[in-house]
Amino acid sequence: MRTLILAAAVAMAVSAGADAQTAYPSRPVTMVVPFAAGGPTDVVARLFAQNMSRTLGQQVVVENVAGAAGSLGVSRVARAAPDGHTLLMGHMGTQIANMILYDNLTYDSRTDLEPVSLVLNVSQVLVTKKAMPVDSFAQFADFLKRNQATISYATAGVGSGSHIGGMLVQSAIGVKNEMIGYRGTGPAMNDLVAGHVDWMADQITNAVPQIRAGTIRAIAVLGDRRNPSLPDVPTTAEAGMAGANSNIWHAVYGPKGMPAPVVEAVLKAVREALADETVKARLVDLGGDLPPAEAMGPAALRRHMDEELARWTPIIRSVAEKTTLQ
Ligand code: ASP
Repeated sequence: MRTLILAAAVAMAVSAGADAQTAYPSRPVTMVVPFAAGGPTDVVARLFAQNMSRTLGQQVVVENVAGAAGSLGVSRVARAAPDGHTLLMGHMGTQIANMILYDNLTYDSRTDLEPVSLVLNVSQVLVTKKAMPVDSFAQFADFLKRNQATISYATAGVGSGSHIGGMLVQSAIGVKNEMIGYRGTGPAMNDLVAGHVDWMADQITNAVPQIRAGTIRAIAVLGDRRNPSLPDVPTTAEAGMAGANSNIWHAVYGPKGMPAPVVEAVLKAVREALADETVKARLVDLGGDLPPAEAMGPAALRRHMDEELARWTPIIRSVAEKTTLQ
């Protein structure tokens, strides 16, 4: 009898626990974007957040926590309660490049965060201010060589995607330009359009609207196939800088220790956002590549991060020096 009562009590406790877990989210969810508003990571995060709000039944509110190449925002999520109410839209720069470049990073992206899923692959594109008198990569390379001392390029800080893309391009040409750092490439793009900075290598999602509007020039997509949103823009191999490829993939994380049912709930909301025709169409129109089904979920993201860290370490070390977070 005693055993029976005990078993019943345990069963009740387990179901109460499960109820508490399935009650997620119990209040609005914050999705941290580790860069300034208006940039590519922000735009993608807002598309997901809006749709995920519907699935989760609570508002998913984007909060921009910019600074130190995105590491401030990532640290903020790593330190938050692991209850699913604070999430991160991270990318290759914050999760991989920062790990390779900084010797005093305040997080380890593999052990201080709970991976939820890869959400988008985003190739970079090399763009210049409209007034730069170049129409091809050959002309761009020549212009940079001849005007090296006065040319500047924009980034979201050392270790950001735009910094890595910028370093790949300079290394392919054999020049060193002045870097101008911003809190994200949203503000950097404004300065490129205004002609205050000369060039940038950034996520294609940030550049497509401006290229279509004719406010900046597109030189090459940093990938090995043309992007359907910019069919006239050559690949790196076609342009003459084969191998300078860069995919700034985006992925959603929570703080380490987020319970499995919460990870599942967030993943379900991500999947539903990616199944939504309007969200899909917008992401594809901006030049994003939707992840294949087998690349989604926590286990696949964990594997992807290990592979990316191994793959990028020698490449990044060959073009950029290790540094210290200020
Ligand atoms: N595109 C930026 C980067 O270079 C970040 C951003 O503003 O989204 O990493």
